[in-house]
Amino acid sequence: MRFDILTLSPEFFDSPFKPGVIGKAIEKGLIKVNALCIRDFTEDKHRTTDDSPYGGGAGMVMKPEPIVKALESLPKAGKRKVILVSPGGVPFTHEIAKELSGLDHAVIICGRYEGVDERVRAFVDYELSIGDYVLTGGEIPALAIIDAVGRLIPGVLGSDESKEDDSFATGLLEYPQYTRPEEFRGIRIPEVLLSGNHAEIARWRRRESIRRTLTIRPDILLNAPLGEEDIKFIEEISKNE
Ligand code: SAM
Repeated sequence: MRFDILTLSPEFFDSPFKPGVIGKAIEKGLIKVNALCIRDFTEDKHRTTDDSPYGGGAGMVMKPEPIVKALESLPKAGKRKVILVSPGGVPFTHEIAKELSGLDHAVIICGRYEGVDERVRAFVDYELSIGDYVLTGGEIPALAIIDAVGRLIPGVLGSDESKEDDSFATGLLEYPQYTRPEEFRGIRIPEVLLSGNHAEIARWRRRESIRRTLTIRPDILLNAPLGEEDIKFIEEISKNE
């Protein structure tokens, strides 16, 4: 899959994609990431990319022409979507990441200052937010989206890096994970994990996933696919509280 990032700071992306799983996927040719400098698509001698807002007010607004010219310089072949990152966008979720991982090409427009001229939205398929807070620019959201989408592309994660049990993939938060030693500073791992009984371990993990989701993210539990045993367990926990 190819990602093109439209940004005022292409140098921001020089190192984050070098290490780790995404770095390896780039080396293997499974992912291609390209950062385009929006300033290169200006036509005036000052290479202007922003201007003051019509109607007055503080801050600067990114001009539409260089952004749209940068967009139009890119190939349109294959399944391609254009994403604008913005705090006012739809919350970026695992479901959206999964959908995007089926594309051939994603273009991500990074805003700066007060954001982009409203007319840029006419050229965009998705407007995505990575959370209910305001960052100074769209580069960190672009990184987050490429990382989350990239790891879902077939072949990117190794066979020992399962994604099926990860938080949100099952509709729940992941169960607690432990590794050696069995006891650390007086805290022992749950005995069931030493039992070798795979069915019991799976049951314990499912229940801990539900317990954690109910405590921390009851909002996602409403849409999680739950079985009869899960529902009984939720009723049990709720009674005991
Ligand atoms: N004035 C804008 C508003 O109130 O919605 C905020 C602009 S913000 C300072 C500058 C740029 O950072 C935005 O155009 C967007 O590209 C990016 N950005 C900031 N917070 C973001 C978030 N939570 N999710 C996605 N993008 C964000």
